[in-house]
Amino acid sequence: MQNYDVIIIGAGAAGLFCASQAGQRGQKVLLLDHANRVGKKILMSGGGRCNFTNLHITYDDYYSSNPHFFKSALSQYTQWDFIKLVEDHGIAYHEKGRGELFCDNKASDIVQMLVAEVQKVAGEIRTHCEVQAIAQVEAGYSLKTSLGSFSCQSLVIATGGLSIPTMGATGFGYEVAKQFGHTVLPTKPALVPFVWDDRRKINKVLSGVSCDAEVSCNDHSYQEGLLFTHRGLSGPAILKASSHWDYGVPVEINYLPSLDLIEALKRARIEQPRKQLKNWLQSNLVNQLVEWLLAQLPDHLMTINMADLNNADIEAIDKTFCHWRWVPADTEGYRTAEVTMGGVDVTQVSSKTMESALLPNLYFIGEVLDVTGQLGGFNFQWAWSSAYAAAQAL
Ligand SMILES: Cc1cc2nc3c(=O)[nH]c(=O)nc-3n(C[C@H](O)[C@H](O)[C@H](O)COP(=O)(O)OP(=O)(O)OC[C@H]3O[C@@H](n4cnc5c(N)ncnc54)[C@H](O)[C@@H]3O)c2cc1C
Repeated sequence: MQNYDVIIIGAGAAGLFCASQAGQRGQKVLLLDHANRVGKKILMSGGGRCNFTNLHITYDDYYSSNPHFFKSALSQYTQWDFIKLVEDHGIAYHEKGRGELFCDNKASDIVQMLVAEVQKVAGEIRTHCEVQAIAQVEAGYSLKTSLGSFSCQSLVIATGGLSIPTMGATGFGYEVAKQFGHTVLPTKPALVPFVWDDRRKINKVLSGVSCDAEVSCNDHSYQEGLLFTHRGLSGPAILKASSHWDYGVPVEINYLPSLDLIEALKRARIEQPRKQLKNWLQSNLVNQLVEWLLAQLPDHLMTINMADLNNADIEAIDKTFCHWRWVPADTEGYRTAEVTMGGVDVTQVSSKTMESALLPNLYFIGEVLDVTGQLGGFNFQWAWSSAYAAAQAL
């Protein structure tokens, strides 16, 4: 039986960072993962460039059944702390969108940095390791694994959520939590594309079309890119809205968010009377989308001139182009979701240290907890911050 001060299960974003921080505090650390390599999700994140944090971290960008839980950790280790670490390692990065920071080169820069930090403090990393059983013992915890038996004073669960099973995601962390009496709240895929029902699926002509749109769901609105896929709708505005979606809930899309369409049509009716409505709309929105939306309106609007529009026509056009309502049949699920909402109930975990309130020296960090960030680097910041908070207590 090999003994460690700290064993961390899950060598993803949170586990790797926690290992380095605990090592810096003089702890003898073992980091275990069942996958063939560490940080797989980091490698595939941000389109291969890893959106590792956001300049504008706010509490409004996080969701949890306890909306105060994440505040302490996020303030103990901020985006500025992680940016400094990235800079200290000479990793070049750039800002995209609204404060989203990406590597200039590759996401592997971040994984290499995290591994180097673990090696610097002589932390041990073992991959291909199946954890078969965990037991609480007098001195802490003992683990039976495919690589032998280990014991530790403190055990950290950093096995993430259910998203992308092909990348090694499992419900292992939830099972450990339940084993030790913790409540696991229902989970659902988030930051995930929506899929059409069968009727709309046939509209293959729109696949690949993108535009700027305002997508609203359950009183939350996002104005960003929207993309038609061969299965449904994706793009940042949709992914963000998906975090607020549940079965049966409608999604409303404004395809012309920068226009007051009613006013603009009334003005154009006077100023451009001979122009066809379709042409006018196509100067504001991509052609295929105009055709598709017009086809959902009465036939005469497909060929009408601006001068012939009556107020009822204008209202109907506004309803279809700016208040297009749709109840998605489903999401693409954990197969493509960036994150898992729900998870280990945070009311049984210390918000300052991530330690279990039920058992001493048992910690949960990262996505396994019921804390979910919005798209834009917020989820990695939660991984870094929660890992740091736990490491300070180890
Ligand atoms: C395609 C994609 C792109 C993303 N892009 C971004 C982005 O750009 N910015 C951002 O902020 N967030 C992004 N995310 C979300 C982000 O990757 C996660 O929120 C973050 O990785 C969570 O960190 P974690 O350490 O809690 O879990 P993970 O990083 O998922 O790590 C969990 C680790 O536990 C291991 N594990 C699981 N089960 C077991 C087991 N039974 N035994 C041993 N080990 C186990 C896994 O192999 C894995 O290494 C993206 C996610 C995806 C899927």
